[in-house]
Amino acid sequence: MKKHNFNAGPSVLPRIAIENGAKAVLDFEGSGLSILEISHRTKDFERVNDEANSLLRELLNIPDNYKIIFLGGGASTQFYEVPYNLLEKKAGYINTGVWAKKAIKEAKLFGEVEVIASSEDKNFSYIPKGFTIPKDLDYLHITTNNTIFGTEYHTDIDSPVPLVADMSSDILSRKVDVSKYALIYGGAQKNMGPAGVTFVIIREDILGKVSRPLPSMVDYRNHIANNSMFNTPPVFPIFMMKETLKWLKSIGGVEAIHKINEEKAQMLYEEIDRNELFVGTAAKEDRSIMNICFVLKPEYEELAGDFLEFTKSKGMVGVKGHRLVGGFRASCYNALPRESVEALIDCMREYEKIHAK
Ligand SMILES: *Cc1c(COP(=O)(O)O)cnc(C)c1O
Repeated sequence: MKKHNFNAGPSVLPRIAIENGAKAVLDFEGSGLSILEISHRTKDFERVNDEANSLLRELLNIPDNYKIIFLGGGASTQFYEVPYNLLEKKAGYINTGVWAKKAIKEAKLFGEVEVIASSEDKNFSYIPKGFTIPKDLDYLHITTNNTIFGTEYHTDIDSPVPLVADMSSDILSRKVDVSKYALIYGGAQKNMGPAGVTFVIIREDILGKVSRPLPSMVDYRNHIANNSMFNTPPVFPIFMMKETLKWLKSIGGVEAIHKINEEKAQMLYEEIDRNELFVGTAAKEDRSIMNICFVLKPEYEELAGDFLEFTKSKGMVGVKGHRLVGGFRASCYNALPRESVEALIDCMREYEKIHAK
């Protein structure tokens, strides 16, 4: 039986992408070779790489003065590659959770880091607002969607200094004004493909300004100059990413998926707010449409393990919350069908009927 996959990442992918990936593993475009055993320096793979690149550019409406590169190492590698390439004196960071904190820790190795705002005082349950961004920063770093705590910026913020964003878990879920950012990065494995490939979207003029020497692999300019083929790129993840992007385009692109994402999130949040047993953990105005976090009300808390088993018995996986928030997290990425959200809602209602006091 096909499962309802609420995993936080790696996570659900479009079925068609998986089927095309399976075919390419057996025989890549009739070449008699598997995609797993071809050279990346072939016309055939260059086409895959170029198509992934141009699909992403088209779907996100990325202006011409931005370059797109695909790397290994995950978003976590970008936590140090960003300051390595951009931090000369001082950078600002908004601390909205675990991933932001990890980015802050790495940046401190390269220069002064000022935490401009933080939501740590309330266990990262909201997005800080009304902060002033100093003009003397090399850049300001934000995490647009906080995968663990289920909070999200719903608009692109204005920044007087270059804005850098970790968009690992909400890339392509909503329209983004790329021109407001200097650099956007993320691991593909939440919304854009399988684990193993990382995307970096860079406005080229921000590079080349730091005085420190950069190792070749760290210097974004080398990857840009070589069209992501400075060394062996993650060939199969890039193929899968291309298939995932193709799927997104085929269903109408970012605008269409955003509408669906909003519907899915609204349905589930409405149930959380209505249901006698559950309560949401994130501030309402900052609720993520990707990672939906909720817990049992205190008087029902002892049912946590049992409810999780109940969801499993209904064919659901990945509903367990992160240990830092507890309770439950339903990750509702682009490829998660509406039926899966409906199934979870049915499950919550049925459970309420059995257990509400
Ligand atoms: C998952 C995630 C990361 C970590 O990604 P890796 O590819 O595992 O390094 C970083 N930031 C955010 C917002 C994430 O959701």
